[in-house]
Amino acid sequence: MPVCFAALVLLALGGALGFWSLARRQRARAGLPPGARVTYADTGAWERVAQPLFSRRYALTGKPDYIVENAGNKIPVEVKPNRVAPAPYHSDVLQLVAYGLLLEETFGAPPAYGLLKYRDVVFEIDLTKDLRAELLATLNALRRDATARDVARSHTEPQRCRGCGFRATCGQTTE
Ligand code: SF4
Repeated sequence: MPVCFAALVLLALGGALGFWSLARRQRARAGLPPGARVTYADTGAWERVAQPLFSRRYALTGKPDYIVENAGNKIPVEVKPNRVAPAPYHSDVLQLVAYGLLLEETFGAPPAYGLLKYRDVVFEIDLTKDLRAELLATLNALRRDATARDVARSHTEPQRCRGCGFRATCGQTTE
């Protein structure tokens, strides 16, 4: 039955190409950064993390909301239940990269990706070497700024200042 087999292959290929094309269109519409994808996630397989993780080497501590096992690899999961956005915030991506670093320090294997769950969507983010380098540079800058006399505001977002506890004293509010 070579004809039937060929038809099945073509059907499967057509389905795969259709799915790929749909995913590509969705990705283009959402304006996702490179290395980020919208994914399906089985939240029932997520394990809550009880204790904060700690890295002496990077002087870093933190706790992802969940860890999920994938082929023996531990994947960090961060949940922002009220956040609605078509693409991940870069600050959330860096937070996920930090959890990836902590999992690597704790369990000895770097996770290839992490999951970021917003209210309506789950993003799968590749934890690349470039993101790791950016995280380490950001941590160094934060430590440097923590002891500086004066630090310039790093954003132009009035909504952040509106909810900030330092608004009355910082002298750099955006409004
Ligand atoms: S009020 Fe000042 S410290 Fe707070 S977010 Fe705005 S600039 Fe930053």
